[in-house]
Amino acid sequence: MIPSLHRPTQVVVETDKIRENIATIQAHLPKKTQTFAVVKANAYGHGAQEVAQAVEDQVDAFCVSNLDEALELRTAGIAQDILILGVVMPDNLRLARAYRITLTVASLEWLDQAQAFAKDLRGLQVHLKVDSGMGRIGFRDAESLNKAMTALEAAGCEVAGIFTHFATADEADVSFFEQQLTRFKTILADLDKLPPLIHSSNSATSLWHADTVFNAVRLGAAMYGINPSGQALDLPYPLEPALSITSELVHVKEVPAGSQVGYGATYVSLFDEVIGTLPIGYADGYTRDMQDFYVLVDGHFCPVVGRVSMDQITIRLPKVYPIGTRVTLLGTDGANQITATDIAAYRQTINYEVLCLLSDRIPRVYR
Ligand SMILES: *Cc1c(COP(=O)(O)O)cnc(C)c1O
Repeated sequence: MIPSLHRPTQVVVETDKIRENIATIQAHLPKKTQTFAVVKANAYGHGAQEVAQAVEDQVDAFCVSNLDEALELRTAGIAQDILILGVVMPDNLRLARAYRITLTVASLEWLDQAQAFAKDLRGLQVHLKVDSGMGRIGFRDAESLNKAMTALEAAGCEVAGIFTHFATADEADVSFFEQQLTRFKTILADLDKLPPLIHSSNSATSLWHADTVFNAVRLGAAMYGINPSGQALDLPYPLEPALSITSELVHVKEVPAGSQVGYGATYVSLFDEVIGTLPIGYADGYTRDMQDFYVLVDGHFCPVVGRVSMDQITIRLPKVYPIGTRVTLLGTDGANQITATDIAAYRQTINYEVLCLLSDRIPRVYR
């Protein structure tokens, strides 16, 4: 999709804040911990290439979710290792190898199928995935891992790492986290041989279980400055959100009491009011359930009134403002702030989803 450049709606990304967040987190982790920057889903809406280029010198590798995301980074000139966290279908193995993309091996069945496409796995680098309780992908016992490692090495493949993923690292109750950790450690102890990289920490684990680092962390949410627990746990140290959404008033009118606004005429003004219109809607990822939430104009909170349309929303203003007045839909204006976590709480979802849903129609601007 072509971003809509001739419209004042923008996602502004401050890459310096991402850099600061990474440095802050690294300062709280054991020295020599490797940092993998997770830039899947267009870097959580921040722009994968731009973020990767901005933090390249601070991190050891990148993680993405699929082969196309990996190829995007590689063709943009990113030289570090790029680990695909999900399962790549076995017939894409040669393409991954050609671009020096690191694959996750999560089952013996996958390995059998992959070897039907390439018996000789020289030049391919992989990490093994352990399912310690997340229940999505990965080996669940040491015996099959040992078999996989033997087969991979016999085929000339470089087994560079082994990792697992926690389901509840962002929760106050640590019982399932501890159960997963024990399972992972037990499996590691039963392996014939350990790959050089061992990693289990996403953002939540890096923040609230900093002692659980093996020798690398996979940082997503935290480097973008969002709290991976939402409102459940306080951050152990401050991080700065790097993304804001701004737009401008494109239409302003005074309406008498009793005026309808938007599809379904769900809003009827109680008083003589000032209604402003903004060029953003659910096609931009500003979802329909944002009705009755608020935006910032001139430092004041202003309610979103009436339905969110595909391309426009309407807000109630405290007074008449000129066309072109800046509006902050996510971010800071004066003393007030709207965070992805605030929006997520209102929408009963998570801040990750709020950012990932921002569509390609909104241009990303880098500061
Ligand atoms: C997405 C993902 C991460 C990053 O998670 P955050 O909570 O954003 O830090 C790490 N590891 C795996 C396996 C993932 O899928």
